[in-house]
Amino acid sequence: MSPEPEAYIDDSRRLTDDDTFVFACHPGCECFTRCCHDLSLVLMPYDILRLKRRLGLSSGEFLRRYTSVHVGQGSGLPVVTLKMEGADLRCPFLDPGSGCTVYEDRPSACRTYPLARMARRSKEMEGVEEFYFVVREPDCLGFREDRRWSVREWKENEGLGPYNAMNDAFGELLQAKTEVGVGAMDADQIEIFYLGCYDVDGFRASYLEGPSLDRYLEPPEVLEEIARDEEALLRHGMRWVKKKLFQGGCAACGAACGRGAPDDPDGVTPPGR
Ligand code: SF4
Ligand code: SF4
Repeated sequence: MSPEPEAYIDDSRRLTDDDTFVFACHPGCECFTRCCHDLSLVLMPYDILRLKRRLGLSSGEFLRRYTSVHVGQGSGLPVVTLKMEGADLRCPFLDPGSGCTVYEDRPSACRTYPLARMARRSKEMEGVEEFYFVVREPDCLGFREDRRWSVREWKENEGLGPYNAMNDAFGELLQAKTEVGVGAMDADQIEIFYLGCYDVDGFRASYLEGPSLDRYLEPPEVLEEIARDEEALLRHGMRWVKKKLFQGGCAACGAACGRGAPDDPDGVTPPGR
């Protein structure tokens, strides 16, 4: 496995929207698609939604076919990574001739590179403070090109808006975990987290049609919205996890079920690729 991209973060320069960097990636690059091999590519909840929809699969089927899950040592949370394939450990969505076959729905880490987004939040602040670092992977020849981008231009060009917004909602959930001091979680808690954040179709079936009583606490218009809009469903799933695990427990009974120690004290969401 290649070193984690965090190893190549250039933290000497913190970039915000008007700051610039020089980079270009195109099929003419000698290294084209080299970076789509042997990756530890962590999938965020919204990455999974976009990819499963792109491939016409249920989230459960997508997760079974294309991902591995492990419990993060520090966080105690389930982490979903894309399984590489074949002897050359390539991304399952890479066509060696033409490149990324899911380009319009590629994960946020693929879109953000060569930047790494840091989203800092605190109790005292509304929203998040975001900034970026350049990730200088040594085999990437894109840094030899002469195209200059501002961070704002890069975000627009790569369609990062909806990804960043959904990743921030996920970050809010992780922050709630930190604030209540939840460390290791038991199997039931991990399952709740996985269902609400990653298995959006499983959550829909369980929440809207299953034995869960939580849906009776919601007004009909909310239930209608999450039944027809997958983005709303995912946001609701993450809020449901937050309420159930990190805000005094079950929405219906209010019983607390979290415990342990904080694992992400500074509230910074790291890059996933
Ligand atoms: S290594 Fe860099 S320049 Fe080459 S394809 Fe990957 S991102 Fe593009
Ligand atoms: S999803 Fe696309 S861009 Fe990302 S690693 Fe796979 S082939 Fe490369």
